[in-house]
Amino acid sequence: MNQTVYSYRPADCSTRPIIYDQSLCVGCNRCADVCQCDILLPSPVKGEHPVVAYPGECYYCGACVMVCPRKGAIRLQHPLMNRAKFVPVIPRS
Ligand code: SF4
Ligand code: SF4
Repeated sequence: MNQTVYSYRPADCSTRPIIYDQSLCVGCNRCADVCQCDILLPSPVKGEHPVVAYPGECYYCGACVMVCPRKGAIRLQHPLMNRAKFVPVIPRS
């Protein structure tokens, strides 16, 4: 049976949007299938988690986390500046 082999050039990126836990992942590739941006590519090694090929293009929709059958196998890590809490500025009288 022929197997599709993906090739890609790793893109430089300052963020790491997807964190995998290989001890929980079963390598089903559902997360890679559901990603509409094709950020995740199936691992060339059977049973291992997908490859985060284009981390800078992730828009943090969370679909990959929601579709995963193994809780904790994949999680989102938002960029630091998106974790800030903005508070209203009260003008001085
Ligand atoms: S959060 Fe959304 S865009 Fe980012 S890798 Fe997951 S499915 Fe793709
Ligand atoms: S959907 Fe979950 S278990 Fe399946 S490959 Fe992705 S992280 Fe691993």
